[in-house]
Amino acid sequence: MKRILLLMMMCLGMNLLQAQTIDRDVFSLLNLDYPGLEKVKAAHETGDDAQAAAELLTYYRQRTDVSTPDLDTARLTLSKREQQWADEALEHTFYVHDGYQPSFNYGKDINWKYWPVEDNELRWQLHRHKWFTPMGKAYRLTHDEKYAQEWALQYADWVKKNPLVQIPKQLYELQDEAEGEAENVRFAWRPLEASHRLADQINQFILFLPSPHFTPAFLTEFLTNDHRHALHVMDNYSAEGNHLLFEAQRVLYAGAFFPEFKDAPAWRKSGIDILNREIKKQVYPDGGQYELDLHYHPACINIFCKALRMADVNGFRKEFPASYADTIERMIVFYMNLCYPDYTNPCFSDAKRGNLRVEQGYYREWAKLFPDNAQIRYFATGGKEGTAPANLSKGFTDSGFFAFRSGWDKDATVMVIKAGPKGEWHSQPDNGTFELWVHGKNLFPDSGSYVYEGNEEVTRLRNWFRRTASHNTLTLNGQNLENRQSVTRKWQADGEVQCLVTENPGYKDLTHRRTFYFVDNTYFVIVDEAMGNATGTVNLNYQTCDGTVNIDRQALSLTSAFEGDVQVKLQCFAPDGTTMKEEEGWYSVAYRQRTPRTAVSFNTPKTSSETLRYVTVIYPYLSPAQAPDITARLTDGEEVIVTIDGKERRIK
Ligand code: MG
Repeated sequence: MKRILLLMMMCLGMNLLQAQTIDRDVFSLLNLDYPGLEKVKAAHETGDDAQAAAELLTYYRQRTDVSTPDLDTARLTLSKREQQWADEALEHTFYVHDGYQPSFNYGKDINWKYWPVEDNELRWQLHRHKWFTPMGKAYRLTHDEKYAQEWALQYADWVKKNPLVQIPKQLYELQDEAEGEAENVRFAWRPLEASHRLADQINQFILFLPSPHFTPAFLTEFLTNDHRHALHVMDNYSAEGNHLLFEAQRVLYAGAFFPEFKDAPAWRKSGIDILNREIKKQVYPDGGQYELDLHYHPACINIFCKALRMADVNGFRKEFPASYADTIERMIVFYMNLCYPDYTNPCFSDAKRGNLRVEQGYYREWAKLFPDNAQIRYFATGGKEGTAPANLSKGFTDSGFFAFRSGWDKDATVMVIKAGPKGEWHSQPDNGTFELWVHGKNLFPDSGSYVYEGNEEVTRLRNWFRRTASHNTLTLNGQNLENRQSVTRKWQADGEVQCLVTENPGYKDLTHRRTFYFVDNTYFVIVDEAMGNATGTVNLNYQTCDGTVNIDRQALSLTSAFEGDVQVKLQCFAPDGTTMKEEEGWYSVAYRQRTPRTAVSFNTPKTSSETLRYVTVIYPYLSPAQAPDITARLTDGEEVIVTIDGKERRIK
């Protein structure tokens, strides 16, 4: 009985689709003289568009000369998560965002305007349809038509309920209040989301094409919708940043994958021209992307690589100059030097923390483009092949990232510092801050970003994680930095005492000069100088990882009692009158996830133009060793005298 009911329901679904009308616009959008479309053209010219649509479907089902590097139908895999997204989508429970789990249900009659939490990302990313490709993979792996039927229904439902109404371009970028239909268009058709669908539709097209639910009429609707997307993205390209890169790459994809459109050559050219222009603009000479975010950085590498691989598999690599690939390679070298041996990344700016599985997957993709680069191969294979970089510590002075590194394996000590220009949208006001990773443990994780923007509460949370005082750096009266333009005064990446001197004119009349010493590949000495006529309270802020940390307000020290064997002691030698205060402490490595941690500030009244100087010693160690006794002082000759358990070391 159940089977009969199911069959009846399937037939009903089929009938609904077969009742669809052919979208005749498609025949004017296609170049009917394109090789292979002869029968389509002939049928169309005799006025039999039903036959023309059927011929078009036959053409696409037999087409073999166009491919995408993103999908290999002979080697499909579906993760447990993707299977869940595919199955939940059958009930209209849509996977939209990792930060909002479990996923929300959008109703039997899908409400594409449903906005259960007023975080812009939740509303935007609904329109990326992230569950469609998993449905397609589930379909191909199981041959169960329920996935194809439901996908086609949802696809058509989205098109019907989210018509493209032209709104002023600035509404997409300025996040102004838009009313009426424009309110929905602002989310559903933001160019970034539209571009996401544009690219992902290629995968859906390939996966669902063999299904009887992919009817000739549906094909005409699909292609017309795809074309509408490409035009819309091109007419509304974002002004800059990673959004523009994503959009250009995806317009290029559309042009490469559907060359039958009259406009396809123009789409391809538009994508390539923008990527060629922007790779010069958005990437500093040292290889850093200008949003100064080590999560968007690899995302941008992937954009540039995808475009190149699409060109390779379809034979138009020569449309990119050689310098394009050289820049990508420089971006990869930049990235490998700023990540930790366990493949995690510092969470500066709005970065989320990557993981070994995903990051190693990136390197494997990159290795396909740069097979001769032994360093990329090293990271692609977890060190089994290739060679680790010959250098240890490395500085990137254009983008202002510096890594002190004792090695490339899991026993290494790595401090990464952010001290560069203001950067673009994702960059935070955090000049001079650092993370410290020792033997697999991140002892000073960056605050991260927690959320992006939305209503007042969401934005308030974002601002807390973003603010200067939530970082390991110096502030004046707890305020955010007014200027972000660090200048590197010295960078010495080798020897027993390695050194970085960086200076940022953070506030009117207050410059922060920060000197890092990496001593004996073991511990760190940081000299902070607050210079200038500004008066008020100078705060030196430090935040550790989670776990037990003992605070000694007399000694101005922090001593960890973490689980596991990696420990740290931090002690500050500060000007007279400095008090130590425990602060609210959190860090975030993923959207909407945060972990409490110890945070302190050392606060000193500044009443004159006299420079305030602090020396902080950060001493990581492995138990069963004990926390050392530490003293430190500055001499007049700009030398630091440090003692560790009575053993003196003069550093300059
Ligand atoms: Mg941060």
